[in-house]
Amino acid sequence: PYDVLVVGGGPGGASAAIYAARKGIRTGVVAERFGGQILDTASIENFISVNRTEGPRLAANLEEHVKDYNIDVMNLQRAARLEKKDMIEIELENGAVLKSKSVIIATGARWRNIGVPGEAEFKNKGVAYCPHCDGPLFEGKDVAVIGGGNSGIEAAIDLAGIVNHVTVLEFAAELKADSVLQDRLNSLPNVTVIKNAQTKEITGTDNVNGITYVERESGEEKHIELSGVFVQIGLVPNTDWLGDSVERNKFGEIVINDRGATNVPGVFAAGDCTTEPFKQIIISMGSAATAALSAFDYLVRN
Ligand code: FAD
Repeated sequence: PYDVLVVGGGPGGASAAIYAARKGIRTGVVAERFGGQILDTASIENFISVNRTEGPRLAANLEEHVKDYNIDVMNLQRAARLEKKDMIEIELENGAVLKSKSVIIATGARWRNIGVPGEAEFKNKGVAYCPHCDGPLFEGKDVAVIGGGNSGIEAAIDLAGIVNHVTVLEFAAELKADSVLQDRLNSLPNVTVIKNAQTKEITGTDNVNGITYVERESGEEKHIELSGVFVQIGLVPNTDWLGDSVERNKFGEIVINDRGATNVPGVFAAGDCTTEPFKQIIISMGSAATAALSAFDYLVRN
């Protein structure tokens, strides 16, 4: 059996595995896709001490760093079930069962797609999901934010300080964001909110050059010229496979305390799949280091 089994091979999983292995304990990593979300990221400019890198390059760096240690990496394997017996068992989709004294879950999350023509085509070419990451790329330009919930309105307020103009497109008749956020948004001079708007297409040639939407009341089609579209209709944690085995909140995020512990003794979690409030590379690595040190502490005490 493992001392620490990490489920997930993104920045969080890699960090947890290295921190665990440096304690000289038996460490394994199971990952559906080693590298995680950063494999889909073009440019990264906020991984502090690295001025600029590309996602696939950072993923290769993670893999190289993990290989420096005696860590069993099981790539292209999906965990399907967790069960706490005398040990913690992780059953893989292929039927194999791995046993470990402690487990760190770092299965990350995925942005919900709007699913219109142009979205996939222009990903990283004007279509973005993370205002903290990509906002500065649109300095002085016009952008749209799709989604009028808290994350959409927070994104619009954030972007309004950087870009020339922000158009918020909300499908429903009203914004769902908290009223303090709406008040703040309404106080900004360079934001337009369009409700009852169904996004139809993101247009462009090499990069995004506009967005087409349908006014749901009139059925009329409208086009806005702009350079960027931020899709903010939800971040979904990859935690369905856990069922009721570990406590999750109403968004599906694994509930952790400030030591990275879940409600199940010996099971820790870190990064985008958890209640950690902000979802970033550097944050998932930090919270995974906390989870690994907590797992080691748990092993020492049990
Ligand atoms: P993830 O990166 O999501 O990794 C999860 C891992 O778990 C993957 O290996 C996955 O395959 C695996 N997994 C999932 N389910 C299972 C399962 N059932 N069994 C086994 N393995 C499983 N952040 C920044 O800080 N700066 C940026 O510039 C930036 N830009 C971004 C751009 C884009 C387009 C996207 C999508 C995200 C961006 N982010 C950025 C966010 C950043 O990528 C995430 O915060 C970070 O990757 C989270 O790391 P994680 O390890 O928690 O999860």
